[in-house]
Amino acid sequence: MNPLFEQMPTSVFERMSLAATEHGAVNLGQGFPDFGWPPEILAQAAEALLHQSNQYPPSRGLPRLREAVADHYRRHQGLALGSDHVVVTSGATEALAAAILALVEPGDEAIIFAPAYDAYAPLVRRAGGVVREVKLAAPGWRIEEQAVEAAVSDRTRVIIVNNPHNPTGRLFGRDELQAIAAVAQRHDLIVITDEVWEHLLLGSEPFVSMAALPGMAERTIKCGSAGKIFSLTGWKIGWLVAPPGLARVLTRAHQYLAFASPPNLQQAVAWGLAEGDAWLAPMRARFARGRDRLAAGLAAAGYAVLPSEATYFCCVDLAASGLAPDDEAFAQAAVEQAGVAVIPLSPFYEEAPERGFVRLCFGKQDATLDAGIAAMTKAR
Ligand code: PMP
Ligand code: GLN
Repeated sequence: MNPLFEQMPTSVFERMSLAATEHGAVNLGQGFPDFGWPPEILAQAAEALLHQSNQYPPSRGLPRLREAVADHYRRHQGLALGSDHVVVTSGATEALAAAILALVEPGDEAIIFAPAYDAYAPLVRRAGGVVREVKLAAPGWRIEEQAVEAAVSDRTRVIIVNNPHNPTGRLFGRDELQAIAAVAQRHDLIVITDEVWEHLLLGSEPFVSMAALPGMAERTIKCGSAGKIFSLTGWKIGWLVAPPGLARVLTRAHQYLAFASPPNLQQAVAWGLAEGDAWLAPMRARFARGRDRLAAGLAAAGYAVLPSEATYFCCVDLAASGLAPDDEAFAQAAVEQAGVAVIPLSPFYEEAPERGFVRLCFGKQDATLDAGIAAMTKAR
């Protein structure tokens, strides 16, 4: 038995969702919204399921979807892409797995930023690589070029960055992305950029893709997710975007992970990327209202809520809220005794975890948020 899997803990998202079900708690933990998708996309999927596509599509993805992804990013992010840059995957999770397995050889080092989305480090280890963690200082969570530079060694192969950032809700600024780009170019590294939250922007700041920075298109692998863009997290249609030569290798890595992804959902996503632009701004406004409602309710209950610029998450600073900075203990008591599931941030760290923060999901109907706020009021 491979000890990597034998000793691997259950993901914090799964753990907290199971606890929410067990205790009948409001689930503000795992990030899934209970609204927010364009209704027509469901009809498109149903039509494709009933009348069109149910057999293996090409492993690389339906040409229609690959073209739609390329076109979407040409229009929204100014990326110079064609369908030969795109590989469709089973969610961004598989995209990340394919990218990491394709790039990281045994002994290679991968730089990640902590708190880091929980999939990165286990995937690097699965490839035989070594994780080098750069800690973002709480509560500002800024990326500093010196810290990235200091993490580079002669074995460094990739930098993995997530923008907008889960779990903090930060939208990294152009200067912070530029800092990563400078280090990558100086040391000839590839950047894997997990941009699944690219459309979940809650303020006026625009999103800048890593691949749009000067000199970065040729050394960037971008991961995207229809589950996030269309608030349909169970759909598990994602993609990789990379220079064509690299995309060919990524296709090989994808070939023996999932081989292909459901063609009917690919059809619907292709439709959504091409036709769904008018729905993006109202969707953002609706999520921003959810953030404001949850943040105001938590503040009224005495919690110190950190700003959230993107995603559907915000974090609470336990010490600044006058509580013991033990995120796991808080989350456990909240779900068991107060009836609300939240996500502790310590599982997002490799070393010396930051224990003072929990994450809450505001992508919920008002009634759910209000029930969550009432339970959080009880939890302190
Ligand atoms: N990366 C990040 C940062 C995420 O937050 C998520 C899911 N919430 C994923 C990847 C996985 O996306 P998917 O469900 O498309 O596999
Ligand atoms: N990405 C989701 C979150 O942050 C969870 C995804 C999962 O459960 N694997 O909550």
